[in-house]
Amino acid sequence: MTDTIEIDRLHKRYGSRVAVHELDLHVRPGTVFGLIGPNGAGKTTTLRTLVDIIRPSSGTVRILGEDPRHGGAALRRRIGYVPGELHLEGRASGHRTLSFYAQVSGTRDSAATLRTARDLADRLGLDLSRPVRTLSKGNKQKVGLIQAFMHRPELLILDEPTSGLDPLVQREFLQMVREAKDAGQTVLLSSHVLSEIQQAADEVAVLANGRVVADGDVASLRLGSIRRVRAELATTDAAAARADFDRVPGLTGLEVQDADGILRLSGTIDGAIDPFIKALAPFEVRDLTVEEPDLEESVLRLYGAEVQR
Ligand code: ATP
Repeated sequence: MTDTIEIDRLHKRYGSRVAVHELDLHVRPGTVFGLIGPNGAGKTTTLRTLVDIIRPSSGTVRILGEDPRHGGAALRRRIGYVPGELHLEGRASGHRTLSFYAQVSGTRDSAATLRTARDLADRLGLDLSRPVRTLSKGNKQKVGLIQAFMHRPELLILDEPTSGLDPLVQREFLQMVREAKDAGQTVLLSSHVLSEIQQAADEVAVLANGRVVADGDVASLRLGSIRRVRAELATTDAAAARADFDRVPGLTGLEVQDADGILRLSGTIDGAIDPFIKALAPFEVRDLTVEEPDLEESVLRLYGAEVQR
């Protein structure tokens, strides 16, 4: 079976600046593919070539078996697209705006499309009666998501789809992605938030400096194996405690502050968290934070050499 998205040696230059460098990326039908990378990595550029907003400097791009340059309206009807920067400034209400999109882009009859739009608006908590230009950033983003999903396209191309959405709405969005996959739709989404991609995607490519530095299933990328930790411990023997933590495997960048019997320590763990937790156990732990570092840091730590190429 042909891949739903076939990107081969895609190269895009803006003047002397190379935004995407000889990129190869294939997405199989019925899968959810995550494109992840720090700001400026080339995600938006790649997705825009798929919907023919920009054209490659060289290389080839095919979606649903066609060249986006020549697919025209018939191809666009089979796609749902959420742009990275959504501009909705019209006076029309959400409902009117979506009706208009349903008429111009629906493969199904527009009544069914609008029913789906209303259901999605309910799920996302969007008031369709308000003029779109008066909506907050997050609510505009919901309009963007609905117009992409409502006609049940074969392929969804979503550029940073959760930007501006609060966590509950993000969760609903991830459910929409799972339902799309269950219905046999193919999804390509970009993000600079790792946890979102971890929950949604079957396969992932990590983009940095316009190149794929790693790809595969989410677990194999080890991106999730890096965590930032901070703890506050009650102890009268800071030096001994510090020595205990110096021995924890995988803990680097350890910083320790000692004040009034409270030891504040922070660092980065690459790999298993268990040795760190065991090292905490003998102490009275006053506070503990374990968090995902920003993606840029994880990518640089794991794939620094490839990023510099
Ligand atoms: P972000 O998450 O910040 O949107 P991104 O991964 O989507 O980042 P792109 O927007 O594709 O990255 O940008 C890739 C590179 O190309 C960046 O260095 C950017 O400055 C550059 N670039 C993008 N569009 C243009 C343009 N129209 N003219 C010049 N340079 C551009």
